[in-house]
Amino acid sequence: MRLKLGIAKKLSIFCLFFILILYGTVLDLLINIQTMSGMSGQIVSINNEIASLSKVMLDSLISMDVNDKKYRLLKKDIYLTYFETARNDYLSALDKIAGLASLEYKLPEPWYKIQNKYEQYLIPHIQPSSTKPASNTKPPADNAISSDSNNNSSDNTSPWIFEPVLEDWMKSISNAKQENEREIEQSLIHINDRSRESVKKGMIGFGISIVAGIIGVWFISQSMLKPLNKLKNGLKGIALDNYDHVIEIKSNDEFGELASVFNDMSRQLKESESIRSDFIAILSHEIRTPLASIRESVNMIIEDVFGPINEKQRKFLEIASSEISRITILLNHLLNVSMLKSDSERIKPEPLNPNQLISDAAMSLIGTANANDVELRVYEISETPVPLVMGIKNEILQVLLNIIGNAIKFSYKQSFVDISVFKGVNENELIFKVSDQGPGIPEDEQTLVFKKYYRSKEVRTHMDGVGLGLNISKKIIQAHGGTIYMENNSDKGCSFFFTLPTENEKN
Ligand code: ADP
Repeated sequence: MRLKLGIAKKLSIFCLFFILILYGTVLDLLINIQTMSGMSGQIVSINNEIASLSKVMLDSLISMDVNDKKYRLLKKDIYLTYFETARNDYLSALDKIAGLASLEYKLPEPWYKIQNKYEQYLIPHIQPSSTKPASNTKPPADNAISSDSNNNSSDNTSPWIFEPVLEDWMKSISNAKQENEREIEQSLIHINDRSRESVKKGMIGFGISIVAGIIGVWFISQSMLKPLNKLKNGLKGIALDNYDHVIEIKSNDEFGELASVFNDMSRQLKESESIRSDFIAILSHEIRTPLASIRESVNMIIEDVFGPINEKQRKFLEIASSEISRITILLNHLLNVSMLKSDSERIKPEPLNPNQLISDAAMSLIGTANANDVELRVYEISETPVPLVMGIKNEILQVLLNIIGNAIKFSYKQSFVDISVFKGVNENELIFKVSDQGPGIPEDEQTLVFKKYYRSKEVRTHMDGVGLGLNISKKIIQAHGGTIYMENNSDKGCSFFFTLPTENEKN
């Protein structure tokens, strides 16, 4: 079973695919950015804080040590106060560091050890005889070195801690500080790696989405352009009265439906066209026969076969005869249109002298030209020997008569109609040209004039004709392997051209 995907569905799938890639890339970028911002946040708010607090702790320890020594030497209470301040600073820094631990951040182990050491050793051993111990000093720990137990000094004071213990504390803090710096460094390296990875993934994601976009647009435009071109050619065929053109679109989408509707339409057009042609052929044939006997009878009366007629009767009979001739010509035209079908089989061309053709056609129409006050000018091909064209004489003459007749009909009085034949770019054909100085044909009507029954709006009401002459001419010329076309002249009027193959070309 074939999946039926319309254009809208194809477009939706493509858009979804494109959006998924694009949003996936953006989401990945966002996750990475969030991680990186978390890391940098930790560096800014925790690691930097630990770095500066550990510095405070080291400074405080040194300050405690110095002030302890000074107090011991100079016995001034002020050093005791300094000692207490430094100790408070130390404690508060230690508390702050401990307070940084949270669910997201686990405080490194060394800090807990430092805290324990402090609780074990830092004791309020320095007590000036005159002053009370500092309020926030801690009670001595079991292993604290008190003045009474470890120092027999006469001033009842002892080092607040021994040098090795102080060094041990400072070393521990320095180590913890270094570890913190390492942590910062690690985080920065991690951030750097993450950002590089994000850039790489982003580039790949955007690259894929661009490639997918291009492929998708190409695919969709191809799947639309191909059937559109086929439809365009089919429609062109209809415009040129070619109803045999079948559009082959096998896709299951809207174009497939359009193609089958189009094929139905052209089949129906073909059928109705053939019904119309048959009808016209039968009708014109049926009318032509009685019309011929009417014309013969009228002519016989005009020729006094049935006895003399007066001048008035003759005048009206002559009008009747000329009208009958006009209707006969019209019927012949109609019959020609419906019969000029399988032209290629019908045509048995013979070599014709092009100069002879144009002068014969001009001679036939000289009377009409005079009546319209138009001068015919004939320009024969000067080449010797004259190249012959291949064609059926009567049909080519009919084409020339149609075109020259139109040129005379649409020309203004006292203007020229030029009839010429010459060699064009293609050596194997001759070009016939009929040029007038009339109104020309508006550009939007130029392709229509060769269509059956087409007559321009300006002439429909007041000029003779049925719009078949050029259509018949086109069929005849195409059946001879030539082309027929027209163009407006640069100054005024228009020129009709048709080509015929030369004798050598056909042989
Ligand atoms: P008809 O002449 O019977 O109307 P044709 O098929 O010969 O039919 O011509 C079709 C239409 O082309 C004419 O009605 C006219 O509008 C236009 N046409 C043809 N030849 C000329 C011309 N030389 N100058 C201007 N318009 C022309």
